[in-house]
Amino acid sequence: MPAHHPLDPVALTEALVAIDSRNPDLVPGAPGERACAEFLAEVLDGWGFAVALQDVAPGRTNVVARIGPAHEAPLVLNGHLDVVGTDDMTHAPFLPHRRGGNLYGRGSTDMKGGVAAMCVAAARAAERGTLRRELILAAVCDEEFASIGTRALLDQDLHAVGAIITEPTRLAVVPAHKGFAWLTVTVQGRAAHGSRYDVGIDANRHAGLFLAALDRFEHDVLTRRTHPLLGRASVHAAEVHGGTGWSTYADQCTVHLERRTLPGESGPDALAEMQALLDALHAERPTFSATVALGGAQPPLDLAADAPLVHQMVAACRAHGLPGAIDGLSCWTDAALFAQAGIPALCFGPGDIARAHSATEWVEVEQIERATAVLESVCLAS
Ligand SMILES: [Zn+2]
Repeated sequence: MPAHHPLDPVALTEALVAIDSRNPDLVPGAPGERACAEFLAEVLDGWGFAVALQDVAPGRTNVVARIGPAHEAPLVLNGHLDVVGTDDMTHAPFLPHRRGGNLYGRGSTDMKGGVAAMCVAAARAAERGTLRRELILAAVCDEEFASIGTRALLDQDLHAVGAIITEPTRLAVVPAHKGFAWLTVTVQGRAAHGSRYDVGIDANRHAGLFLAALDRFEHDVLTRRTHPLLGRASVHAAEVHGGTGWSTYADQCTVHLERRTLPGESGPDALAEMQALLDALHAERPTFSATVALGGAQPPLDLAADAPLVHQMVAACRAHGLPGAIDGLSCWTDAALFAQAGIPALCFGPGDIARAHSATEWVEVEQIERATAVLESVCLAS
């Protein structure tokens, strides 16, 4: 019975993994987070939290649970309940099982282990009765697609002293991660019979000129743009579409680019750089014609290494025998949305992002337990 769920982060991870919460924007027809959110709400209610379910869209639900004195700005612990698809998995995705000290299942590492750790940590901290500030647990929907869950949470004018996002960091303290920008380049040609070189303009070959310029841009420019925790900025041509048949000059070729951005780079910056590449190609070859549009972008995360929240996390890690290493994360997380809202945010959690979204997904049981202990200390010390 959820209302009597033990204060055990591993058992809670198993219970959460057993509920299919695949994101329906990634997997058509998937159930979404509602059932998982209802279960977790009941567990947290049984542990003494004031719990609210926030419906963000049909079937898409956040759990927001509060505990502790509300006179000062709260500390937020945030994690997502949605998981990605399961098509090529080598084991049963929603039948959690333990083997060799690891817990297997879709979402075990990304990131139900982290959600369970933060929930049990806050509950244990509150049980001691010495909380100095309110704790808000936010188990949100849709991080894997458009982050409508954390956006809806922040839209409620949330003020907080800090936010810890319990994404898998292998128990490292992660104050920085990359952002990204999606750009669509549309190369314009002129359709003509395949024999009519005098009329046709080959959009596909012109797209090739652009891709060659993009390769030089990455080599000459992006490899020199680096961050101490994140490595370098990058770009890749994720999709190329063009042409209609053997004997026709392609009238259009579209290239979908993804730019992974470093702190200091924005979506509009990435757009302006691509526009400059296209302008240079047009100057070289007047028949080259192309436009670029920004499809979507998310900002990077870059909390100062000497921020109080970083110090607290590192101290708590060391108090529990962990190195308290400070590291960067290559992927994007909801932490950037907290930072954008003016709330200092970092990531810290059990498991390895390298096993997220993969055919075999597992989390170390010991890491769940150690993350819980560290987070409990941070809840008490903050
Ligand atoms: Zn995740």
